[in-house]
Amino acid sequence: MKPVSYLRAQSVEEAAAAHGGRSEARYLGGGTNLVDLMKLGVERPEILVDITRLPLDGVEEQAGGAVRIGATVRNSDLAAHPLIRTRYPVLSQAVLSGASGQLRNMATTGGNLLQRTRCAYFQDLSKPCNKRVPGSGCAAIEGIHHDHAVLGHSPHCVATNPSDLSVALAALDAVVELAGPGGQRTVPVTEFHRLPQDRPELDTVIRPGELITAVVLPPLPDGALSRYRKVRERASYAFALASVAAVLHCEGGEVRHAGIAFGGLAHRPWRARRTEAALLGTRPTPETLARAVEAELAEAVPLRDNAYKVTLAQDLATQVLEALIPSA
Ligand code: SF4
Repeated sequence: MKPVSYLRAQSVEEAAAAHGGRSEARYLGGGTNLVDLMKLGVERPEILVDITRLPLDGVEEQAGGAVRIGATVRNSDLAAHPLIRTRYPVLSQAVLSGASGQLRNMATTGGNLLQRTRCAYFQDLSKPCNKRVPGSGCAAIEGIHHDHAVLGHSPHCVATNPSDLSVALAALDAVVELAGPGGQRTVPVTEFHRLPQDRPELDTVIRPGELITAVVLPPLPDGALSRYRKVRERASYAFALASVAAVLHCEGGEVRHAGIAFGGLAHRPWRARRTEAALLGTRPTPETLARAVEAELAEAVPLRDNAYKVTLAQDLATQVLEALIPSA
C-alpha cells in the first residue's frame, strides 16, 4: 500500500501551490488515464491535486470570434456544444471518435491533451522503456510495433500520441493556456507536444507544476469546411492507426486556407505543412491532392512492420481532402 495525499483545489492558485512543481505531485482531472497508469504502477504519485472543481468548465465565445474551452470541460460536453458542432465540426468528430461514451463523460479537455502513449511496453513494468525509465532502452523498436510511429521518431522512442482531440486542435491552430509557478503563458498546440528525440520521457513542453487552464480556437474564415476521419483496428474504442483532421476554405475552387494534421503517425499530432503549402492558391484535382499529401508522407521512415501506415494515411488524407473540395 502506497499512501497518497489528496487535495481538492478550489482555485487555480490553490492548485498550483498544492502541486508546487514537485515530481511526486499530479493534477487529477477525469482520471481516465492517470488512474489506469496508477493501477499498473507506471505512475506512482504521492500527492494528487483534484482540479475538477476549478471554474474552468465553460465553452465561451470571445471578442473577435475565438472560442475558449476551459480545461475541465468534459469531452462529451465539448463534442455536443453548439459552438463546437456548428463552427468546428472537425473537433466534435475527433472527440466522438475517441474512447467510449462513459470515458468521454469523465475525460477532460486538458487531460486529453496530456494523455500518455498506449505503447504496450510503456505500460508493462517488466519491459525496458525509455519513456517510463529513461536510459532503459526501447522494447518496441525490435518488438511489436505495427501501430507505432512512422514520422519523427528517434532511436530512443517510436511511440505515438493517442489523442484524437489534439489532432483536430493542431489543424485548427488552437492555443493552449497554461498557469503555473512562473505565471501564465500560452503555447500553440502545434508546439505543445514534443518529438521524442533523446528525451522521450517528456511528452510536452509543459513545465513542472504548470496546469492547462484553457484551449483557445481562433475563428475560421467564413465558409471553411472541416472533417476528422480515423482508421483503427476495430470499429470503436480503439486508438488511431492513422487519422486526419482537415480544415479547408476555398473560394471559386481555389484553396485560400488549409489546416491539415495527421494522428497515429508520430509522437505528436503531425501538422502537414508541406501538404498545405502545395495546396494553397491552387485549384486542386484528385491527382494534385494526392501529390500534395505525398509531399508530406515522403518524410516517413517506417519501422519493420508498419509501412502500411504510410499508404493508409495517404489514402485517408486524399479522401478527406477530396470530400472538402467538391470540385476536385
Ligand atoms: Fe517506451 Fe517509447 Fe519504446 Fe514504447 S516506443 S517502449 S514508449 S520508449
